[in-house]
Amino acid sequence: MLILVANLGSTSFKYRLFRMDGSGGEVVAKGGYERVSDYAGVIDDALATLQRDGVIASPDEIEAVGFKTVLGKDLSGCVIADQATIDALEGFAAVAPAHNPPYANGIRQFAKSLPKAKLVALFETAFYQWTREASYNYAIPKAWRDIGIRRYGFHGASHKFIAERSAELCGREDVAEIARRLYLDGPRPVSGKPFRVVSCHLGGSSSVTGILNGVSIGTSMGFSPQSGLPQNNRVGDLDSGAIPYAMRTLGISLDEAERQLTKESGLLGLSGVSNDIRDINEAAASGNPDARLAVDALVHSIRHWIGAFMLEMGGIDALVFTAGIGENGADTRAAVCAGLEGFGLHLDPAKNAACRATEADIATDPSAARVLVIPANEELVLAREVFRKLS
Ligand code: AMP
Repeated sequence: MLILVANLGSTSFKYRLFRMDGSGGEVVAKGGYERVSDYAGVIDDALATLQRDGVIASPDEIEAVGFKTVLGKDLSGCVIADQATIDALEGFAAVAPAHNPPYANGIRQFAKSLPKAKLVALFETAFYQWTREASYNYAIPKAWRDIGIRRYGFHGASHKFIAERSAELCGREDVAEIARRLYLDGPRPVSGKPFRVVSCHLGGSSSVTGILNGVSIGTSMGFSPQSGLPQNNRVGDLDSGAIPYAMRTLGISLDEAERQLTKESGLLGLSGVSNDIRDINEAAASGNPDARLAVDALVHSIRHWIGAFMLEMGGIDALVFTAGIGENGADTRAAVCAGLEGFGLHLDPAKNAACRATEADIATDPSAARVLVIPANEELVLAREVFRKLS
């Protein structure tokens, strides 16, 4: 089955074409466009390029298009992308202004350009559909809850892949199968011992998710991606009382407060150096105290969430690192794992130092819990979910 995964930004369109079958899949072509103003034009150009390059004989060979949609109003999961999906994206356009409008547009355009293809949307919130009410509700008035304010969670495609892959690597095929089929069958009971994972997706945007028996029990991100860990230049968790106080005291408007919290906060705001952990680590190593603070605050926040989920699950069988910082940042991994031996987590310093962007178990051999590095591949995750949905 040929599946096109469409990655749509406010002014960009990137795609990967996968050939998928029951045993996995491969990328057969990829491409992209920047500074896009006319989605219809670039989608048709991409299809013409695939034909001209001999990748496809006709656009009709593309059986499905997958969209990694972020946040829908009253809609989540892995769904056929139809008018209800477009309405759900537009209903929350104000919460995800950089993501929702381009995806709503893209779905409309693909329906015209590839009328025979099945269009499938995988919401980033999908993995959190089964979290408990006590976990996803904020203590706000009913009227606020009625307009959809609650914890949703993001990076769902990445964390769900970790749920599958960590179970495979730890020899828990029963749990891996539950995780693989989660969007088809929902959660299913496990007959043996529970399998408890904390997944750390650490990149430009970061979140920590607790996963019990292949299903998320909670995550660090809430209503919007403005929450949880300090992000590259987004604030992460912040007391709601701070916003009116800053507006009144600094004399700034709501729009300006929002701009500063989304563009000038997070690791950039704390360090004053950069939004990239590599630059911040370098500055910290050469004695910059603000850079040191940014690194320490990130590690503190990661550990805070790991602790919360370990407690809720009654322990941990695997701690997983993924995405840019998780896969490459040996220093960050070591700082996160420091002093956790009492919880059965023993990091092997040599294995940790040697691991860069490859799949590896970096715990000591006798460690009761595994420490895993699993590279993220969100396009492949999407192609797999689309294939599973349509098979
Ligand atoms: P992602 O959002 O998953 O693409 O991750 C991007 C982030 O990964 C960058 O902002 C960097 O902070 C981080 N990163 C990339 N390469 C490295 C590296 N070699 N060491 C530490 N962090 C890295």
